[in-house]
This record gives sequence, C-alpha cells and structure tokens, in this order.
Amino acid sequence: MLESLKKEVFDANLELPKRGLIKYTWGNVSAFDEETGYFAIKPSGVDYESMTPDDIVICDLDGRVVEGDLNPSSDMPTHAVLYQSFKGLGSIVHTHSPWATIWAQAGKDVDALGTTHADTFYGTIPCARYLSEEEVNTEYEKETGNVIVETFHERGIDPVSVPGVLLHGHAPFTWGSDAKKAVMNAVVLEEVCKMNYYTQALNPNAHVLPDFILDKHFERKHGENAYYGQKNR
Ligand SMILES: [Zn+2]
Repeated sequence: MLESLKKEVFDANLELPKRGLIKYTWGNVSAFDEETGYFAIKPSGVDYESMTPDDIVICDLDGRVVEGDLNPSSDMPTHAVLYQSFKGLGSIVHTHSPWATIWAQAGKDVDALGTTHADTFYGTIPCARYLSEEEVNTEYEKETGNVIVETFHERGIDPVSVPGVLLHGHAPFTWGSDAKKAVMNAVVLEEVCKMNYYTQALNPNAHVLPDFILDKHFERKHGENAYYGQKNR
C-alpha cells in the first residue's frame, strides 16, 4: 500500500544524515496521504544502511499501525497529533540537529533577524514549553504533539506560514507540503539558528527584521502573489 509515499519517506530519511542534520538514527520523517488519511513513517531504530522502502510503516491518525512488520518510530504519536490538528501538512521531520537543538535547550524562540529566515518562516519560530511531569509520565509522545499544537494556538501562529517549532529541552520539529520541503525547512531552521547565535554574539541588540522586509521576502516565495523561481517547473 502507498508504495510511492513509502519511497518518499525512505528517501527523505536518508537525506537527514546527508544534510548533516542527524547522527545515527536520531531523527524521523513521515509523509501524509490525503486520500486514505494514513501516513508513512520510519521504523524505530533501524540503521539507515540496512533500511529499505518496505520497512517504512503505515499508520492511521489514531496512531495505529495499518501496515508494516516493524515498530514505527517511537515519535509516531507526535506526528499523528500534528497531522490531525494542523491541516495542510504533507510531511513532518524530527531531528536533533545541533544548532536548532542548542536553541531548544536554551529555551529560546528564534526571531526573524534576516531574509534567510523570512524566505521560509513568516516570523518568530516558537519554542514550546517543557512538558509537565504528568504529561511525560502518561502519553509522552502524544502530549509532545499536544504541546506543539497548544503553542501555535495560544500564540496565534499559523503552522503553514511558520513550518517549525523547538521543544524546550528537546529538539526541533519541522513540516511542509511534502517530504522534500519538510527536510529543506529543517535545514533552513538549522542554518538560521546558527546565524542568529553569531549575529547576537556580534550585536546583542540586533533587530528583528522590519515587517515590510519580512512580508516582502515571505510573500515573494509563498501565496498567490509569489514570483520567486520559475513558473510551471
Ligand atoms: Zn527527539
């Protein structure tokens, strides 16, 4: 079932170490199929050298395995909550990429200081709160998804325009319309965290980008008036 979706997820998972985002198997990618309402996700703890597209597990939005011999990634319930709550996501990526994880451990939002950020994220990338002891001890991975959703709702952030989040003391999640874009957003987030660190070291009073520059850069790549790149390619 969903062979091309499995291949997309397989390829995207291999992309994580290639792009320098993860070591060992510290990451996972999933992709969602609108028609069936199922998503494909990396199996838990399988070495990338021995993984095949057939090892990719198919799950439903209640977090049940629909197809596959292996256990899905232990973060699978987080992915399920995000697909359920944020409409329009085609793929989700979780990594422990070092710069984004450094910001997550510091518990800091990532402000839009430049156009590298604004091309992909329309404003501040939020850092979600720690989970409570009760949340950790009940359904940890599901509650992780709930805390991400709570953060976007409470702060009035549109998850399609800001396709990523940091989890305090943990690491980032990013998403996108397909697996390639979700991985690309993870790469952009990693670069932006690194750039912000040095920018603020050089100038602790560095300004958040003025709205008119933020708007210009985001809108030329996204939405109905986008003009970046080539048409029909
Ligand atoms: Zn993690």
